[in-house]
Amino acid sequence: MTMGKIFDAAIIGAGAAGMMAAVNADSGNKSIALIDHNDRIGKKILSTGNGRCNLSNTDMDIRHFHGGNKDRIERVIRNFDHKDTVDFFNDLGVITMEKGGYTYPNTCEAKTILNAFFMEIKKRKNIDVFTGYKVKKISDHENKLWEISDNKKEVLAKSVVISSGGMAAKKLGSDGSIFPILKELGINIIPMVPALGGLVAEEDYFKKIAGIRTDAKISLEIDGKTVKKEQGNLQVTKEGISGIPVFNISRYAARGLNEKKKVRVITDLFPKYDKEEIKSNLQKIRMNFLDEEIQNGFSLILDKKLAILFCRILGIRPSLKLKDMDDENIDKYSRLVKNWSIRIKSPWEFDRVQATAGGVDMGCLTDELESICKKGLFFAGEAVDVDGDCGGYNLQWAWSSGYLVGKSIAKRGI
Ligand SMILES: Cc1cc2nc3c(=O)[nH]c(=O)nc-3n(C[C@H](O)[C@H](O)[C@H](O)COP(=O)(O)OP(=O)(O)OC[C@H]3O[C@@H](n4cnc5c(N)ncnc54)[C@H](O)[C@@H]3O)c2cc1C
Repeated sequence: MTMGKIFDAAIIGAGAAGMMAAVNADSGNKSIALIDHNDRIGKKILSTGNGRCNLSNTDMDIRHFHGGNKDRIERVIRNFDHKDTVDFFNDLGVITMEKGGYTYPNTCEAKTILNAFFMEIKKRKNIDVFTGYKVKKISDHENKLWEISDNKKEVLAKSVVISSGGMAAKKLGSDGSIFPILKELGINIIPMVPALGGLVAEEDYFKKIAGIRTDAKISLEIDGKTVKKEQGNLQVTKEGISGIPVFNISRYAARGLNEKKKVRVITDLFPKYDKEEIKSNLQKIRMNFLDEEIQNGFSLILDKKLAILFCRILGIRPSLKLKDMDDENIDKYSRLVKNWSIRIKSPWEFDRVQATAGGVDMGCLTDELESICKKGLFFAGEAVDVDGDCGGYNLQWAWSSGYLVGKSIAKRGI
């Protein structure tokens, strides 16, 4: 069954990118169908930033974005950047605030951002919202009309925007169901891997040290080569490592593992001290507390669970008296504290991570994020091969790309 009406654009996916595209495509004389298979629009936004929605960042350096075509990513971001994003929400009436460069709504509630979109979209008479509509087929016709179908009814439109997200957090709607449909249309998809998540270690000792949080510098090694360094609060989980620095390297680790490479994380638990300083501190502890056990003495600088683990890794009895620990073992211990090597087995699964690395190949797209070979087919948000660091960069990409695509549609045919 066809819906009768021919829309100027059908936007598939009413997440951050799709909603931004919809309000910018509606220039007053365009009709927009905003389609989502969830029962409500913008569901994922409610989960962002631990329910506070870290919507952007004052530091828009391009190194925070990753993907196929850095120049094009930069152009899209510069065209609608942090300031434009803040202005956009301020114009709707939302007050924003910054914390350490991270931008949030002043309410610190993600629902503020969703409500702003919800009211704006409701107000617009040219935007028809179709929820509970799972797109199963997209076909282009010779007469330049696109047909979007859930296998029961069709929406006809002159342009289509794919803003259906990636593969991360399926329960929030982005289940990846659009990608086989895109492949059928001849769109190249860069293999997708989980990004912004923790890493699972090969070592089986993590259950014993879970719960530790400590500042650390981590270096990601792929096939013996250092590819990325990060510093911040490291969290030890039952199965491996997590925390913002790990999230930021996880896309590279996942890619390496996908290519069957050897992936290791080298952890420096004392980035501000060199090995010799750690060594002399351990010697001081030994001198001060000769009759104490190593596990107690060394817990002056490390969580006790780690102090014990490091003894075990080095084959030293944790209950050994400090006076019986020789200089050679103190040297080995300080080296381990500065270079704790963790072998990585896998990234967290898509269901647990915040973003997707990979997606629609930017090489198939114009500067306006329109398909080169399929006129009228646009792309925005996480569906595209772009992902950002922790700190509001993924939502920024969704706003910037949604804005660009929306404006391109608004201009079309004028
Ligand atoms: C828990 C969590 C916390 C996060 N926190 C932050 C944060 O604080 N800051 C930040 O910058 N980023 C954050 N992110 C990442 C950010 O939320 C996403 O990158 C961003 O929302 C992507 O927007 P999008 O519009 O491209 O896709 P999505 O928001 O995933 O929206 C895609 C929409 O398409 C719909 N859809 C999919 N397939 C179909 C289909 N076949 N038919 C119909 N509809 C379909 C889905 O239902 C969904 O509503 C977080 C992610 C998660 C999971």
